[in-house]
Amino acid sequence: MDLSVVNHEDYFAKIGDDHKFPIDKFGEIANYLKKKKIVEKFYKPYACSDETLKRVHSEGYIKHIKDKTLDQRAVKKIGFPLVDSVVRRSLVATGGTVLAAKLAIKNGVACNTAGGSHHANFDSGAGYCVFNDVAVAAQYLLDRGLAGRILIIDLDVHQGNGSADIFKGNNNVFTFSMHSKSNYPAKKSISDCDVELENDTEDKEYLRILKFYLSQLNEENFDFVFYVAGVDIHFNDRLGKLKISDEGIKKRDEIVTENFFSKGIPLCGVLGGGYNKDFNKLVELHSILHQSCAKLLR
Ligand SMILES: [Zn+2]
Repeated sequence: MDLSVVNHEDYFAKIGDDHKFPIDKFGEIANYLKKKKIVEKFYKPYACSDETLKRVHSEGYIKHIKDKTLDQRAVKKIGFPLVDSVVRRSLVATGGTVLAAKLAIKNGVACNTAGGSHHANFDSGAGYCVFNDVAVAAQYLLDRGLAGRILIIDLDVHQGNGSADIFKGNNNVFTFSMHSKSNYPAKKSISDCDVELENDTEDKEYLRILKFYLSQLNEENFDFVFYVAGVDIHFNDRLGKLKISDEGIKKRDEIVTENFFSKGIPLCGVLGGGYNKDFNKLVELHSILHQSCAKLLR
């Protein structure tokens, strides 16, 4: 069976050519996955509806984003200009994770080519995140009885603070974040489990810690997993502070996806962050998630 991957041309937004965020990656990842024959045909999402967004975000915040009336300080915290293509992108990328989650239930595993906006909170965005797509999709599954106990395993180099806050005290969603201790956000939130890594952590130590916590997570009864596969843990990332190699990321993605797939727990993979100094390398690193998941189905 082929891996189901969700993509939309509107994942790309016009944020200005000199912007620090590598927004071009969203078009390039889709091209790369096609070129490498990892994906033949993409599933195209709808923009996430207000009704679905409202289960996780405040009505006021959703309206301010859609009307582009969010105050300047709050826009600055997000880091993207609040223009039509950014609004559109935030809505389709969130719809994309909802669709990928539904496809994961059907096929065991599925991925988005965007998503993992884990810094977005109930009524605010931050750190290049407008809506918390994974939180929205998790709540969508719970509301429809499609899942009962969800794990968000977040291996982006930054803490999944928005997801931690949104699901604080919610026993149906377990938030796990393994991140750089000294990295953004300066003030960390409290996930159900936080693992803080020292600067310059290398492959061997990273994978040892990951395997230990996976064995702990395997003691719990999850029936759905969201995997935030940020590649900003790479040694050549502009924002990461760790020293993980290409091979380390490949092993990480294989270990995580195989762990849950082999137990029959549906897994939805989303991109997370990546700011590699080498653009082509960045695209290649993000595609490791899709390649690891595709391999499970062969
Ligand atoms: Zn990140």
